[in-house]
Amino acid sequence: MSDADIQRAADLRDQLNRYAHAYYVLDAPLVPDGEYDRLFNELSALEAANPALRTADSPTQRVGGKPLDAFAPVRHVIPMLSIRTETDSGPGGAETFDTRVRKELALTEADAPVEYAAELKFDGLAISLRFEAGVLVRAATRGDGETGEDVTQNIRTIGQIPLRLAGVTAPVLEVRGEVYMRRDDFDALNARQQEKGEKTFINPRNTAAGAVRQLDPKIAAQRPLSFFAYGLGEVDGWTVPATHSGMLDALAAMGFPVCADRVVAQGAAGLIAFHQAIAAKRDALPFDIDGVVYKVNARDLQERMGFVSREPRWAVAHKYPPQEMLTTVEDIDVQVGRTGAITPVARLAPVFVGGVTVTNATLHNLDRIRELDVRQGDTVIVRRAGDVIPEIVGIVAERRPMVEEAVDLVETRTVPQYKPFEMPTACPVCGSHVAREEGEAAYRCTGGLVCSAQRKQALLHFAGRRAMDIEGLGDKLVDQMVDAGLLRTPADIYKLGIVKLAALERMAEKSASNLLAAIETSRNTTLARFIYALGIRNVGEATAKDLARHFGKLDGLIEAATQPDEAAAIAALQAVPDIGPIVAQSIRDFLLEPLNVEVIEQLRAAGVSWPESEPSELLATGPLLGKTLVITGTLPTLSRDDAKALIEAAGGKAAGSVSKKTDYLVAGEAAGSKLDKAQELGIPILDEAGLLALIGQTS
Ligand code: NAD
Repeated sequence: MSDADIQRAADLRDQLNRYAHAYYVLDAPLVPDGEYDRLFNELSALEAANPALRTADSPTQRVGGKPLDAFAPVRHVIPMLSIRTETDSGPGGAETFDTRVRKELALTEADAPVEYAAELKFDGLAISLRFEAGVLVRAATRGDGETGEDVTQNIRTIGQIPLRLAGVTAPVLEVRGEVYMRRDDFDALNARQQEKGEKTFINPRNTAAGAVRQLDPKIAAQRPLSFFAYGLGEVDGWTVPATHSGMLDALAAMGFPVCADRVVAQGAAGLIAFHQAIAAKRDALPFDIDGVVYKVNARDLQERMGFVSREPRWAVAHKYPPQEMLTTVEDIDVQVGRTGAITPVARLAPVFVGGVTVTNATLHNLDRIRELDVRQGDTVIVRRAGDVIPEIVGIVAERRPMVEEAVDLVETRTVPQYKPFEMPTACPVCGSHVAREEGEAAYRCTGGLVCSAQRKQALLHFAGRRAMDIEGLGDKLVDQMVDAGLLRTPADIYKLGIVKLAALERMAEKSASNLLAAIETSRNTTLARFIYALGIRNVGEATAKDLARHFGKLDGLIEAATQPDEAAAIAALQAVPDIGPIVAQSIRDFLLEPLNVEVIEQLRAAGVSWPESEPSELLATGPLLGKTLVITGTLPTLSRDDAKALIEAAGGKAAGSVSKKTDYLVAGEAAGSKLDKAQELGIPILDEAGLLALIGQTS
């Protein structure tokens, strides 16, 4: 035994004891389980090689953590133990256990396979429930295995735990099991925390443990917890079934939730099959597990095998690769999405977690980064549970890289090596200005027409049926043309020629000339369609129409939106009916970006045009001026859109739902509840002919 070994064992004991205290006592782990297990295994191996290193305070010799003084202590008559873990997460883990069991039981090759009960290893918190005369009298945590904490009040808030047993009135029956939190309950809880601006929880296991050990049962009651029974403690006056599986059946009959994912397996082969079957469905389970547990099924054999210091010899935990791992953040940069949203992304040192190698993780937004307090250089916990994308759920603060910094000529202090992350002010893809909408977490690139990250989306939107209506310019073609470098901005659409088009793969000459014809037709449009086609954030079809009607001319809109006095610009835009401050701001941001205006000029130069009018001129004319109409059902000749267009051309407004403000309901075939409502409110009802007559057109 070298001095180095002695020192290493002492360091590991200190570190593990600190981690175990944070995990068991504070319910706030400093590192993921995988990291704890790695160090624990290193210490176990050192101690196995040099038994003299095995001190009484070694975490390998003890169960759990010290109970908190805040709860009344509960002494366990039958101690609550730990379970030995097989480190080999392949089939070897099951084989090693089976070999050990056969040896303990002095079985030879001629003997039949050992029968096991195989079940899930739930990732929660062990609880002992004491029933006297069939009534729940106390619930206790495991604590250090000998003494736990009285958490009866909190456990009573868990609806799945029976307060009275069905059909059993034995003087004493202690049922043991796991309190856990389902993944969907955990996600919903975190969503609520985020909404309230409160700290989110790291994982379901520690959230469940924290809830059970809450001093205020009202808070515990707000945390949705679940329960599975898997064992017994003290029993008096009840005949325990001869097998573990039979005992679980009996617990289910008494009213306890017992997990259905369990089997009785024969020998190592049966265990391996179970381990593999559960591995395949692990992601689809509604709760976290960190492995499976094998228990010798016959109780008399269990008794023959007995216990070592902190664990039974007849049971083992066979783990799966961990769903949380440590890695380091090499850098934080941003990604620009198809809609211009700018998302910070952590570039990670590659780490294998939850079955995949993870090299980056989204950090969602600046608020999330501030909440996690994550920086470049940090050691972080990456979690990938279920089928969800990997996430950074916490940092290991004590491993943040620090450097010395001079305070003055003599003094220095240690400070973090890296500064907190800041959002860029210019889009990293196109250089356009980056804006943040009021009340929104996301930052966005304002270069909607020029940013290559948004290019495909912008072009598709521009060509869409309700925008410039260029038939044939769909998803696949836009992809193909952008990738071939033919299209960069919408203005490029009007520079396409037959030669360039026909050169594209799978593009027949006929479709090329059809497309060119559609492009040609689209040059003559309306101001409303053109504004909508620009894809300004928050400007939908209705807003585009309102803008067109109000300003009449595009230059009027640009002038109003880009005037140097910001408040005046926003006020000018808000003068348009139905436009609020957020929409006004996004219009201004978009038009202030010179690159966007450049594309607008190119489009006009390419011959895209529309009839312009004096501001609000249209508003003052038309037979339906100031009238609101609602359309329902199928009209005999007009499509919905045609009817809407006619109404709007006549100065009216087409609304989506019937209210007291509705002037007419236009009803066609198969009209439903809107018709009933209009009749109820006494609103005049028109058919298609009636509508046409009203606006002075006859069919
Ligand atoms: P254990 O969790 O490995 O095994 C015993 C426990 O398993 C029982 O108390 C019970 O709660 C649970 N269990 C789940 N399903 C079961 C089933 N079907 N039958 C029986 N028991 C079942 O042992 P342990 O000693 O409590 O703790 C070790 C675990 O805690 C490891 O996973 C370790 O990584 C983790 N830990 C992590 C940290 C950290 O800092 N992250 C610190 C300490 C411990």
